[in-house]
Amino acid sequence: LHPDHRRPIRDLPDELISQIAAGEVVERPASVVRELVDNALDAGATQVTVRLLAGGVRLVSVEDDGGGIPRDELPIALRRHATSKIGSLQDLEQVATMGFRGEALAAIASVSELSILSRTPGQPSAFLLDGRSGELRPAARAGGTTVEVKELFFSTPARRKFLKTDATELAHCIEAVRRHALARPETGFAIWHEGKLVEQWRPASRDQRLADVLGEDFLAQSVAIDQVVGPVRVTGRAGIPDAARSRPDHQFAYVNGRYVRDKVLTHAARSAYEDVLHGQRQPVYALYLDIEPSRVDVNVHPTKIEVRFRDGREVHQAVRRAVEAALAAPRAAALDVAPP
Ligand code: ADP
Ligand code: MG
Repeated sequence: LHPDHRRPIRDLPDELISQIAAGEVVERPASVVRELVDNALDAGATQVTVRLLAGGVRLVSVEDDGGGIPRDELPIALRRHATSKIGSLQDLEQVATMGFRGEALAAIASVSELSILSRTPGQPSAFLLDGRSGELRPAARAGGTTVEVKELFFSTPARRKFLKTDATELAHCIEAVRRHALARPETGFAIWHEGKLVEQWRPASRDQRLADVLGEDFLAQSVAIDQVVGPVRVTGRAGIPDAARSRPDHQFAYVNGRYVRDKVLTHAARSAYEDVLHGQRQPVYALYLDIEPSRVDVNVHPTKIEVRFRDGREVHQAVRRAVEAALAAPRAAALDVAPP
């Protein structure tokens, strides 16, 4: 820029700061689904219902039966960097909730029409907060929270143009819920699109949930993993080589209950199949790692889909060994599922 055209340094307006942050957190309707379901689970929901219109572009609504938000805190929930989940650096290092950055609702509200309807167990009525006007009024609802997000990116047409067809956006939304569903088998999930029930997963054991979400074949063609290697416990299921697919679409990894995409884990899992799987075939697996929170940094990326391990080699070794041991063990371990 020519020096004559330089503008003075100024603070950005609040709304613009949120919209910039939204660029990192909210890419498409599925990002909204992910954040709202995270919040529902953090609130202790036993049932989460997702309702969508037009692939989530016109509406994403997430309803839970969790602890709710007290009336006086509703406006604060929409503020940037406002959270009930951590209060200190020490908390951050031990964080056990899905959220902690206090950004999601503020970011989403800056690029949509957002409202929150919530009731805590102690309150005689629910309250509805309109994000745009800030209006707060009594409303009807049982305990829990419903967040509605309408007309995503209506004020940022440049972003709206990046959205794909409704069918594609819907598929991404379903995938987002599926990732949560595999982490939380004890929670029930339902997804509605345009008034029709498209998925429903009832509370179940973990194996049953894997079957419900990924299909009976996944369960029948996989072996149980359960190994403690150093400070890492690895559980879940690894598909037999015959179950491998052409695409890596049945590879799920969780660290302390959080879905992650991580090169260390993907590589470790793949290397366990080194001798039994050839060419481009992609193994199927659902890996659940439990590791002391201080050994993993989840504050790497706004969407928290990436993590950083204090000792990546240790984790790599744990996963590789656990999967190898599972594949080497005799098949037909009893499945933890209800008889048909
Ligand atoms: P974070 O999840 O990182 O704390 P959010 O912007 O997603 O940030 O949410 C802000 C706060 O609003 C949360 O800390 C929580 O106290 C409250 N909140 C949001 N959604 C819900 C919900 N479904 N049930 C109860 N509280 C919620
Ligand atoms: Mg959150």
